[in-house]
Amino acid sequence: MTAVPQEICFVLMSAFIFVTGGVMSSLGKGIAASCIGALLRARNFSIRMKKLDPYINIDPGTMSPHKHGEVFVMEDGCEADLDFGHYERFTDITCSAGDSITTGKIYEKVIAKERKGDYLGSDIQVIPHITNEIKDFITSGYNDVDFTICEIGGTVGDIESFPYIEAIRQLILEFRKERIICVHLTYLPFIKTAGELKTKPTQHSVKQLQSVGVQPDILLCRSEIEIPDDIKEKLAMFCNVKKENVVTALDAENIYLIPHQYHEEGLDKRIYDHFNISEENEQIATERIANKWGSVARLIRNSSGNVRIAIIGKYTKLQDAYISLTQAVMHGGFANDVRVEIDWINAEDEKAEILKRLGGVSGIIVPGGFSVRGTDGKLEAIKFARENSVPFLGICLGMQLAVIEACRNVAGLSTATSREFSDDGEMVVDFMGSWDGREGEEIRDSTGNKGGTMRLGRYDCRLTPGSRAHEIYGGKGTISERHRHRFEVSAQKYGATLEKAGIIISGISEDGKLVEIIEREDHPFFVATQSHPEFKSRPFDPHPLFKSLIRAHIE
Ligand code: GLN
Repeated sequence: MTAVPQEICFVLMSAFIFVTGGVMSSLGKGIAASCIGALLRARNFSIRMKKLDPYINIDPGTMSPHKHGEVFVMEDGCEADLDFGHYERFTDITCSAGDSITTGKIYEKVIAKERKGDYLGSDIQVIPHITNEIKDFITSGYNDVDFTICEIGGTVGDIESFPYIEAIRQLILEFRKERIICVHLTYLPFIKTAGELKTKPTQHSVKQLQSVGVQPDILLCRSEIEIPDDIKEKLAMFCNVKKENVVTALDAENIYLIPHQYHEEGLDKRIYDHFNISEENEQIATERIANKWGSVARLIRNSSGNVRIAIIGKYTKLQDAYISLTQAVMHGGFANDVRVEIDWINAEDEKAEILKRLGGVSGIIVPGGFSVRGTDGKLEAIKFARENSVPFLGICLGMQLAVIEACRNVAGLSTATSREFSDDGEMVVDFMGSWDGREGEEIRDSTGNKGGTMRLGRYDCRLTPGSRAHEIYGGKGTISERHRHRFEVSAQKYGATLEKAGIIISGISEDGKLVEIIEREDHPFFVATQSHPEFKSRPFDPHPLFKSLIRAHIE
């Protein structure tokens, strides 16, 4: 139990909040868990956010953003589910590798122990060996914080998530309900022709939980309309929860409005009641929530203007693929009191179509990405931004392509390319061979494994005094950003060529070898970075690069 100012809160022991999902996916379990975290933080409780994902991959690093959405990168380099982005943005905490687990990782651990001989004599089973490993993950470090919030990925009833629910059942037996609360996020479809909200899917998903021995304490019900009293009563009766614990989660216009909305619906109060936490100073928390999260409503209401930022990418059909980027752009709008609209442009469209869509936009972002597919369209967009003085921000692959574009079209190096795209030509973007990584010498080449072998997580970058990047980052000499890439631009090998192409290296790795940030002097705002600044942007602390991109348009 950490030192918590007693005037704000009172809790007897560290507790667990489990968030499960019913009926179907995409209801926003990650946002629900994050909002619970945000409300607890408003009352000065210390929290830790964990997620258990049911898939068998070791991490989402090898999954397609098309199907699974963005891969979020933590400070320590853990490649994790995009929900960790919500956790960090809503609660302002920093998550780490120990907060994220998948079925793949759990089995990997159990199998390694079996080979070592840790279970000599036993046959290894889901119960207890796999469930013990899950419980160890959930309970590790729980005493260091007031609340551990655990989101269970997937939908209750999926075969893959069964061991997780079973582990919760066992933990309830061990810790008792006084220290555990189960919040089940569910959905009440509104049938227009009947003019009615239907409860049956929720009843069924709660039965699934009960059949494994877990009784939800709170039903958080997604709904298009207010839930009438009789429907709450019915849900309470059939699902065996208190009526006041049936909480409405109305669709919101903006996700940052949800914490305040949940508070007004009494979700945090229901949690405090469950744990017998006194109501003392609830008023302080209410004011804090209204000031902080209510301010987002004011920002949205008061922001005017129409800033259009074009994002040219390959995964534009699934917006979750760029979720942190979308959020960072929104935060940049908050910082400038403007409403920002994103124009999603498919990098694989015809050149003429791309150029037509770029006409009149306020700024262009070329985000991170992988493989040669779609790079022609992105190169066109970069050329367009350079030639037409449109504010431009390149991120990761976006920076590598800005380098290639300048080498080809300004420095006359017509074969300039990346090792990722081809084995022929001038490799201005390439494997670095060996270099000093975070954990000693790192080697990255074409024969290496694909999973977990990129330059991942936080790395320092030295900024060039007097550069735009230096100014954007508030005059700091060294900054750090999160990375996720396999290829690099060598400052030593290509510094002179870049200069010829009108590019200034304004950020460089600590050892002086790797290009981290580039910019153009002859342009109102042309900045590109090898890192992923979007992962560190927060609604109440927008990232300076996004803030400046939008300000560049306004100016
Ligand atoms: N594909 C590039 C690399 O691996 C860029 C990766 C990215 O944009 N995240 O280096």
